[in-house]
Amino acid sequence: MSEYDVIVIGGGPAGYPAAIRAGQNKLKVACIDEWVNKDGSYAFGGTCLNAGCIPSKAMLESSELVHRAQHEFATHGIKVGEVSVDLAAMQKRRAGIVKASTQGISALFKAAGVTGLQGHGKLLKGNKVEYTNKDGKKEELTAKHVILASGSSPTELKSLPFDGKQIVDSWGALEFDAVPKRLGVIGAGIIGLELGSVWRRLGSEVVVLEALDTFLPAADGAVSKEALKHFKKLGLDIRLGAKVSGADKSASGVKLKYTDGKGEQTVEVDKVVVAIGRRPFTKDLLGDGTGVQIDERGFIKVDHDCKTGVDNVWAVGDVVRGPMLAHKGKEEGVMVADLIAGKIAEVNYKTIPSVIYTHPEIAWVGQTEEEAKKSGRAYKVGSFPFLASGRARAMESTAGFVKVVAAQDDDEILGVHIIGPMAGELIAEAVLAMEYSASTEDLQRTIHAHPTLSEAVHEAALNADKIAIDFPNR
Ligand code: FAD
Ligand code: AMP
Repeated sequence: MSEYDVIVIGGGPAGYPAAIRAGQNKLKVACIDEWVNKDGSYAFGGTCLNAGCIPSKAMLESSELVHRAQHEFATHGIKVGEVSVDLAAMQKRRAGIVKASTQGISALFKAAGVTGLQGHGKLLKGNKVEYTNKDGKKEELTAKHVILASGSSPTELKSLPFDGKQIVDSWGALEFDAVPKRLGVIGAGIIGLELGSVWRRLGSEVVVLEALDTFLPAADGAVSKEALKHFKKLGLDIRLGAKVSGADKSASGVKLKYTDGKGEQTVEVDKVVVAIGRRPFTKDLLGDGTGVQIDERGFIKVDHDCKTGVDNVWAVGDVVRGPMLAHKGKEEGVMVADLIAGKIAEVNYKTIPSVIYTHPEIAWVGQTEEEAKKSGRAYKVGSFPFLASGRARAMESTAGFVKVVAAQDDDEILGVHIIGPMAGELIAEAVLAMEYSASTEDLQRTIHAHPTLSEAVHEAALNADKIAIDFPNR
């Protein structure tokens, strides 16, 4: 029987960093992962590297370049003739990026002394782990600590089950081998909007059906409003208050049925991406009597430190409460590996950034203006449009703005909301500022290089006190 200090079940962005940090902490660690790609190959990296964050960003980048070549190059004085898409080459690039990223994990494991085990892991009573390898051979492993990081899987619409051809999940939608003429996207969440943007830019007519009446309710109201405008301009046919209830499939396409304020409606498409959210994945993860508890929504119950309540059993990432984001899982994994090693560690759940990698990009951290208003604490707001940024103008990317929400009493930054170029990169400054409980004055006194997009963050902080320089204060 092999004995470890730590066994991590799941090698996605929550599990693999936990294993690496445990290795860095000189603990004997194994990471078990069962991810199998469509070609039958095993790969570490979980949803994020194989079917989520990385391939979606590869396709967003490629499709954005197509869009810019078609619609923006001429403005720069660049003549390219007719732009066409070689989807096979684009998909090959996407697959290559995924492969390089997942293979990189094996190298990282080696460097940190982590034993990577490919196959299924199951927690047994008494903190033992049953490991079933690729060939079906079972082995019982023991560990002082077990970290559960089994992730999540796409939610299926009961009335519209995935068939891998006409009705696909987000993974399927990243690997289409032809541009669908008409694409239906169910759910206007982050994943639905990113995938809708990719295929719209590559030429599909895209209709997005969203059950809620509000667009992007988690984002600041001003950002959602601005975002909706730009998605519509891109040509996404976004129908709010449209709850999909079923579909009729035929050889010629899919007739989606939905209900909106006016009653029953239908729309015909060739393919459908169901992007209505993800569910925690715990299938065959827990043996009898482990004591690990699952809540009513299927998440493994944990406390603030990711302890399950069973001695030395921890859980991190999408399988536990909190936003289903790779960086949230990563920080939890690293925190747990440090706590196991007796170090001080914690995750600051108040400063987890959210990013939507569309064009314009959208990113935020902390409280929205609506949340600040609801809290009852007096607040002030500063904003700055990219239209007034020299760098944004030079980049031909002036859509959007930066908005800072701060406390009126002590000037603490409560939230920062960005829609515009490189929003996902710019938000890092706000996250760092909030991590240090910075005030708008701290941001105001910080020198930002000129001409950079980051000046928009600086100016928005100045505008919170109506002292912006590059835009009239109001
Ligand atoms: P997962 O990545 O799901 O990994 C869990 C791993 O555990 C899998 O490999 C699984 O096979 C394995 N496993 C499960 N059970 C067992 C078992 N019993 N034995 C062995 N192995 C097991 N997040 C972002 O932050 N940024 C983004 O840009 C982003 N884009 C996304 C785009 C798409 C299309 C999707 C679908 C998701 C995206 N996400 C993004 C979300 C992100 O992918 C998840 O939050 C992240 O992968 C969660 O990490 P995890 O390690 O908890 O779970
Ligand atoms: P997210 O949870 O952010 O991935 O977003 C998923 C989105 O799908 C949410 O905004 C849901 O309101 C939406 N949604 C869920 N079920 C349906 C449905 N049957 N029809 C249309 N939209 C849906």
